[in-house]
Amino acid sequence: MNRERRVFILVAGAISATAAASLARAQAHLEEKDPQAAALGYVEDTARADEKKFPQHAASQTCERCALGQFKTGESYANCTLFAGKQVSAKGWCSAFVKRAA
Ligand code: SF4
Repeated sequence: MNRERRVFILVAGAISATAAASLARAQAHLEEKDPQAAALGYVEDTARADEKKFPQHAASQTCERCALGQFKTGESYANCTLFAGKQVSAKGWCSAFVKRAA
């Protein structure tokens, strides 16, 4: 194998690894134990919201119906304006919920 070919393979491999790492970061799911998530009472399933602590919660409120969620039709997870670099669950909820305009 000549030198140029070896360099090309090394560079292509490095670019692939970087792209894969970026993709993994972009798709990381927000964990309920994340300090900011916990402070806002984030849960992966709105049915598990702490209604004693957050009496404003309603079962119809979900991340996919929230103005801060960036969901496209059918997505299970998507970005949220509040949690940069993490994706929230379509069925999720937090106390910063803002009803999306119809
Ligand atoms: Fe879900 Fe909205 Fe809270 Fe983001 S702000 S976690 S989309 S309820």
